[in-house]
Amino acid sequence: MDNKEEKFKEAVTTILEIIGEDPSREGLQKTPHRVFKAFEYFTKGYKQDPKEVLNQALFESSNNEMVIVRDIEFYSLCEHHLLPIIGRAHVAYIPDGKVVGLSKIPRLIEVFARRLQIQEQLTEQIAEAINEVIEPKGVGVVMQARHMCMEMRGVEKAYSSTTTSALRGIFLKEKTRKEFFDIINTPQTNRF
Ligand code: ZN
Repeated sequence: MDNKEEKFKEAVTTILEIIGEDPSREGLQKTPHRVFKAFEYFTKGYKQDPKEVLNQALFESSNNEMVIVRDIEFYSLCEHHLLPIIGRAHVAYIPDGKVVGLSKIPRLIEVFARRLQIQEQLTEQIAEAINEVIEPKGVGVVMQARHMCMEMRGVEKAYSSTTTSALRGIFLKEKTRKEFFDIINTPQTNRF
């Protein structure tokens, strides 16, 4: 067992003691190890390079129509409370000679979501990575999410969701922005 895991487990054991639990009782014996494994997964994005993900499937293309991937589920952790941010992302870009394999967009989101985040920064980072690597005419990212740190701590009484957007290039123009928002606002039932 490496030192990292040992230290992590000690910290979780300390938390259990402080909240008034008995870390040695049967149900909690493996908890420090489970929490360690869970956090390894929640933060695996730190070990991944977003540019590498996109470069793996970058192709030349003469397509200059809007490419949209919508309703991509994501799970992240807020950097202030280490509590879940659960949401959906919509990503669009208009190519300028290069396109990326569609499966790479959810992968890219995963790289940034599996780090400690605030929603605004997460949204910006996704748009920025696409802008830098694909060099499109423009990119738009919209994220809608629920924040457990607001709901569970009683800051917001009921279900509430936060929307953030990051727009670059031609997506700052009214016509393109409207086209993008009209598509992501189309109800699910109208889709096949
Ligand atoms: Zn928070």
